[in-house]
Amino acid sequence: MFKNMRRWLSVLVAVFLAAALTAGCGGKQDQKKEEPKADKKFVNIATGGTAGVYYPLGGAIAEILNKNIPGVNATAQSTGASVANINALKDGSAQVAFVQNDIAFYAANGTEMFKDKKVDGLKGLASLYPETIQIVTLEKTGIKDVAGMKGKRVAVGAAGSGTEANARQILEAYGITYKDIKAQYLSFAEAANNLKDGNIDAAFVTAGFPTAAIQDIAAQHKIVLIPVSGDSADRLMKQYPFYTKVTIPARTYTNQDTDVAAVAVQSMLAVTDKMDAQMAYDITKAIFGNLDRLQAAHAVGKMITKASARNGMSIPLHPGAEKFFKE
Ligand code: GLU
Repeated sequence: MFKNMRRWLSVLVAVFLAAALTAGCGGKQDQKKEEPKADKKFVNIATGGTAGVYYPLGGAIAEILNKNIPGVNATAQSTGASVANINALKDGSAQVAFVQNDIAFYAANGTEMFKDKKVDGLKGLASLYPETIQIVTLEKTGIKDVAGMKGKRVAVGAAGSGTEANARQILEAYGITYKDIKAQYLSFAEAANNLKDGNIDAAFVTAGFPTAAIQDIAAQHKIVLIPVSGDSADRLMKQYPFYTKVTIPARTYTNQDTDVAAVAVQSMLAVTDKMDAQMAYDITKAIFGNLDRLQAAHAVGKMITKASARNGMSIPLHPGAEKFFKE
């Protein structure tokens, strides 16, 4: 029996040696190049719909990581956005996620749509830029305010989006529920197409502006942005403290002639505590060392800075990111 085993062992060793020799043929340099491949680190970045802002920024971040962190293979994936992205972090199908700071807070604390579904171990990498809740309609619908949406077909965001939560909360602040409207769960691109075709009357879009989906509608129709202001905005902010007041300046979109009062939340990048400190540090450093690339990807890129990267952070920072910000 021992003899047999020895023979097997020597065969194994011979095979192993042969394999090693073949692999070694290319010389030392090749061997060096092969090394990082052995432990390629896959980083899938969960973004949002293709007509939003997360998606182009996510693509830019994937490029930055691939270029700057040896051994990393980063990809950006189109998704239903914030809520879906948190679930992707939880089940391990994404390692980095774009999320709204309100949604990250609900997930980390088990409230709102995460009631009884608290997500443990969520960590922040960086706070990015304001995302404004833009309510868009066509001038020809005659809808001028939130109250005017009663009975109408309204796109409230994709299923699993943060937009959808914002739509519900804003309508509620105006005393309107989904029972009073015909809610449609559509991505920004679907909402834009349906609004242009007259299949829906208004759409909620929570994203940095200008948002591609709204630019697309405004290129063909006179749009109206419905304001969120006054007592209702105050009521909203009292109940959900992540909202802040902002103005969508005139001419953000074609033929939009006046400033529009609105509310905004903050976008951020989230990871989990399964990511080690070195990786979180490397990712944060690579992003903030290549902000020009984000600026090229979208106008909101200019609002992403190291100085503001902890503002509005609603969950604990990952220690690796924290180390970078302290430098
Ligand atoms: N904030 C949006 C959401 O989570 C997505 C924004 C975007 O895709 O740029 O619903």
